[in-house]
Amino acid sequence: MSMEIPYKIYLEESEMPKAWYNLRADMKEKPAPLLDPKTHQPATLDMLSQVFCRELAEQELNDTEPYIEIPEEIRNFYKMFRPSPLVRAYCLEKKLGTPAKIYYKFEGNNTSGSHKLNSAIAQAYYAKKQGLKGVTTETGAGQWGTALSMACSYFDLDCKVFMVKVSYEQKPFRREVMRTYGASVTPSPSETTEIGRKILAEHPGTGGSLGCAVSEAVECAVSNDGYRYVLGSVLNQVLLHQTVIGLETQTALKKYGVKPDIIIGCAGGGSNLGGLISPFVGEKLRGEADYRFIAVEPASCPSLTRGKYAYDYADTGRICPLAKMYTLGADYIPAPNHAGGLRYHGMNTTLSALRASGILEAVSYKQTEIFEAAEQFARVEGILPAPESSHAIRAAIDEALKCKETGEEKTIVFGLTGTGYFDLYGYQKFNDGLLQNYVPTDDELAASFAKLPNI
Ligand SMILES: *Cc1c(COP(=O)(O)O)cnc(C)c1O
Repeated sequence: MSMEIPYKIYLEESEMPKAWYNLRADMKEKPAPLLDPKTHQPATLDMLSQVFCRELAEQELNDTEPYIEIPEEIRNFYKMFRPSPLVRAYCLEKKLGTPAKIYYKFEGNNTSGSHKLNSAIAQAYYAKKQGLKGVTTETGAGQWGTALSMACSYFDLDCKVFMVKVSYEQKPFRREVMRTYGASVTPSPSETTEIGRKILAEHPGTGGSLGCAVSEAVECAVSNDGYRYVLGSVLNQVLLHQTVIGLETQTALKKYGVKPDIIIGCAGGGSNLGGLISPFVGEKLRGEADYRFIAVEPASCPSLTRGKYAYDYADTGRICPLAKMYTLGADYIPAPNHAGGLRYHGMNTTLSALRASGILEAVSYKQTEIFEAAEQFARVEGILPAPESSHAIRAAIDEALKCKETGEEKTIVFGLTGTGYFDLYGYQKFNDGLLQNYVPTDDELAASFAKLPNI
């Protein structure tokens, strides 16, 4: 009965999901509520609506509706780059000599080079629908800023991006992509905000940080009429939009009668991993099927593997709501590494709850191990992966090698979130043998945990 599996499984447009799947509706133990950072009371719709677009705030608080319709305008935009292919990694399997069957869902087929466009277009749509003039955001590595500027240009919205100054200087090409799509890109800290001027006065010549860029973006949003601040990861609304990844994967696998054993994704704030696994976790929670789920993170920023499950600030500026999550502490500054998209101190609350209940496993790797996997993958599969995505590749390869030892023919699915064309500085360091590994000591983490808010 088994059908020949093609190298690339493409779905028809008509097979694309018409609704996002809200996993929280099927969870008996819901993620803990967001809290107002000042009063420590559960965040309300009115409070969240001051920061986020109203419909997005509603999605953030929605723990009960399993399906949320994807508006037609968003579905039409998705059709330009979706459905994304689910690829059978025949060449990698052969190279590894493993009996395991490996599949990856490739999200790098759009100009932003990552899955982030799936949520950027949804957030821009709701901002437009609400009649806003524009949105502000921060970007570190640049993927989110790129995706958001593409989405904003599509809906004729103004887009103000605060880009961490070191990245602004190190990644001039990403900056130019954003400007091509009409976004204004300001190196952070900047003279354009009060907080930026203050930081510059105190630390002249600083290269900036994500926390500082967030503070500038939020200040810019609240001091400009008709603007809201938007985020590309961590929030449950973002995870919700990313479920198009998992829903398409589920449909594609069903079409060929394939049942995965292990599903793997890299985890920064958790949006791609959550989006990929949500429909499968739903099946598991409803008792319909069983799977293993593995989150992969950098050893330099190990929130799920070594963090504390506690309420913490979501941002260094302490303006956003408090979230109960696996965290390294809001002031924790991870050592520089070349997977900029995975350098967040905390983790999405839904994934954190799944981790706490034992449904989600987690592993971490050092960056040299990541680039080795990236190189191995690129040489046989023809795609130059983003360093972030290569965390999932590393874990998939290791699981496949375990199968080689035991002779088990497991089916492994992983998320390939993006391409690495803007990360060649990291590849250069790796090729020159100059990449360094940073792993925080227990003492460093303990010092950071000591500063967690007492809730
Ligand atoms: C941002 C990013 C990630 C990490 O973000 P999540 O919200 O954890 O998915 C992973 N891969 C790429 C290519 C990214 O741009």
